[in-house]
Amino acid sequence: AKRAGRSTYADYDASLNLRERTRRDLELDLRTAIAEGQFKLVYQPQVCLKTGEWTGKEALVRWEHPVRGRIMPAEFIDIAEETGLIIPLGEWIIRQALHEAASWEESHRIAINLSPIQMRSPSLVTVLTSAIINAQIDPQRVEIEITESALMHDSEANVEMLYRLRELGVRIALDDFGTGYSSLNYLRAFPFDKIKIDRCFVSEMLDRKDCQAIVRNVVMLARALGMETTAEGVETREQYEWLKRHGCTDAQGYYISRPIEAEHLLEPSPEPQQW
Ligand code: C2E
Ligand code: CA
Ligand code: CA
Ligand code: CA
Repeated sequence: AKRAGRSTYADYDASLNLRERTRRDLELDLRTAIAEGQFKLVYQPQVCLKTGEWTGKEALVRWEHPVRGRIMPAEFIDIAEETGLIIPLGEWIIRQALHEAASWEESHRIAINLSPIQMRSPSLVTVLTSAIINAQIDPQRVEIEITESALMHDSEANVEMLYRLRELGVRIALDDFGTGYSSLNYLRAFPFDKIKIDRCFVSEMLDRKDCQAIVRNVVMLARALGMETTAEGVETREQYEWLKRHGCTDAQGYYISRPIEAEHLLEPSPEPQQW
């Protein structure tokens, strides 16, 4: 027999309230979480499609909540942005990522996600500069990932900020490419080092002609502009091989590796896989 009947307005109202309450609770907890060191970073490797070697790792934040357990960024980044807490959290992420990356193999880059709110923060350049100096890391190993939405509002100021970051010697990647508006305009506004092709195109690339055409042409366009490309969300060998054949620079996704806990990065790496 069919479980649970029609949901009533009362159910709907109750679940809405629960969501609201959870959100408010998280917001309150977020205020102490940074001070109490409840965040950690995991790292997802990016692999060079030509050589099969790791070129870098992307830092992804996790919240180890003392009661709720691990909370993923999708559940708290927007709360952190709305409350302004993304500024201290973002500063912690930058310092922690550079600190941990300083002990990695020299050639590996560290990619850090930047919220649009951070882009508009007057302290960003100072924070990044001092974090680079403290970690004693070559700024060329540091890659800042920004999304199109970070550029959308007040794009002149944002583009200016990108140039100031570039002056520090760090690399700049355009994240989630193709999911926002007027992508092509941003490519003209700033010479990114890399374009990250969003997972939504990569995951459907082999089943849908339109997605495949988009990926193929983004790779060609990036190359013509002197930019690298990283395909996100690569989950199968078929996707990996196709991207390699079509000249995409790097790949990132579960097929290569899930995000790895920092402590496991220090363990001896497994035998290189044959692709
Ligand atoms: P993103 O920057 O696009 O990061 C990639 C997300 O895709 C990560 O999710 C990663 O775990 C997931 N992923 C990687 N490979 C695969 C795959 O093969 N298949 C599938 N299905 N997923 C894959 P995560 O860690 O949950 O992060 C989600 C988003 O939260 C990130 O998307 C980013 O926008 C944001 N975020 C994560 N860490 C940070 C951070 O430190 N600062 C800021 N501002 N945002 C962050
Ligand atoms: Ca990213
Ligand atoms: Ca992305
Ligand atoms: Ca994404």
